[in-house]
Amino acid sequence: MSATQPNDISLQNFKKPFHSSSNRIWIKQPLACFTANELDARGGIVIEGERIKEVLPLGQLPSLPVDEVVDASELVVLPGLINTHHHFYQTLTRAWGPVVSEPLFPWLKTLYPVWARLTPEALSLATQVAMAELLLSGCTTAADHHYLFPTGMEDAIDVQVDVVRQLGMRAMLTRGSMSLGENEGGLPPQHTVQNGDVILADSHRLIKQYHERGEGAQIQIALAPCSPFSVTREIMADSAILAQQEDVRLHTHLAETLDEEDFCLKTFGLRTVDYLDSVGWMSDRTWLAHGIHFNGQEIKRLGAAGVGICHCPVSNMRLASGICPTLDLSAAGAHIGLGVDGSASNDASNMMYEARQALYLQRLKYGAEKITPERVLGWATKGSAALLGRNDIGEITPGKQADLAFYKLDELRFSGSHDPIAALLLCGAEKAEHVMIGGQWRVKEGQIIDLDLPTLIEKHKACAKQLVAG
Ligand SMILES: [Zn+2]
Repeated sequence: MSATQPNDISLQNFKKPFHSSSNRIWIKQPLACFTANELDARGGIVIEGERIKEVLPLGQLPSLPVDEVVDASELVVLPGLINTHHHFYQTLTRAWGPVVSEPLFPWLKTLYPVWARLTPEALSLATQVAMAELLLSGCTTAADHHYLFPTGMEDAIDVQVDVVRQLGMRAMLTRGSMSLGENEGGLPPQHTVQNGDVILADSHRLIKQYHERGEGAQIQIALAPCSPFSVTREIMADSAILAQQEDVRLHTHLAETLDEEDFCLKTFGLRTVDYLDSVGWMSDRTWLAHGIHFNGQEIKRLGAAGVGICHCPVSNMRLASGICPTLDLSAAGAHIGLGVDGSASNDASNMMYEARQALYLQRLKYGAEKITPERVLGWATKGSAALLGRNDIGEITPGKQADLAFYKLDELRFSGSHDPIAALLLCGAEKAEHVMIGGQWRVKEGQIIDLDLPTLIEKHKACAKQLVAG
């Protein structure tokens, strides 16, 4: 058993299309590695093409010759982080004065008219910014929940597909919808809602046009009516039927605030979970953003149905919505993943920052002993993958996609730290040194390959200013 001599990794090797390389790369003897399973990866990870070929325990060498060796002695390696809830367009309304200190309903009502002015160009810039920010934090797969389709924005998801391909990340683009306007007792202004036929026809088109199936998929589509207070029962029920017919996933916001619970009781005469059940959504095809205000019986029912819950700690703290009962849901059988939520309620798109906040917020609910860094990193990787219905990502194990995030503990904040995995969360790692997706380098030495970040920031800032000004 032997390996070739280390080669210097140089920038010209990084510009490769998705799924093309057959090179064998040895990520040699990392400082530490969280595999999201029981495997020992202290000897390193061998990558062949787009997949992980071998995970090497301490002292073991690759079983076949390798083409490239990456010295990982100063790197902490994680499975690429997976973000399961976001609204990319909201990067244009971060820290906007009028809603800085508002809870969900007034926050939404003030923002809807601003968001209704979104253009395809603005969405493209916002998507680039959000995804770039996620990628730099070590995120390799992101779900976006886009539900704004005012006139001129009919191709919103198509615009996002272009950005995903340009950045080489994986994405679950959810075709959101709003169909219950103010005139029918909903929350959003009437001109921001669409009728059910239009929503379903476009959902069907997007699945046919973009949804990739099977291992290594880069782009997937899910159906995502926005929330109980912005869609009709009919669109919830029809989306569930279409999702089953087309075998795609279902996503929505649920049980985020007590205002929402009151709305459901008044409008439908049902609590949120009864409402979800009544429209055919209690299935393992469904994952919910937030999932905070459940009673014990509801937690059991959600767990038995295999519904996934995306915990969004920063958004829940900013809007003072409450704390997700993660361990109770998990004990009942629900999968738990992490999401940063939209940038108007976070306002960062940083998965490491989110994991750190999840650790601390959940400790307030469940105590320090039960909420370990490993548990939280498990939510951000393997748990999130389960929410998206994927078993090819989220873990470091042979056969899975080579989606990896590498962190260097050389900043001031890490000096004097001992346990490298714990240090990522406790000392506050924010930026990945390198990121690999499907065996391809997408971030090298803290820089995104092929993206002119200063120009993007300049354009995005100007666009944000214009959007808010009207
Ligand atoms: Zn959200």
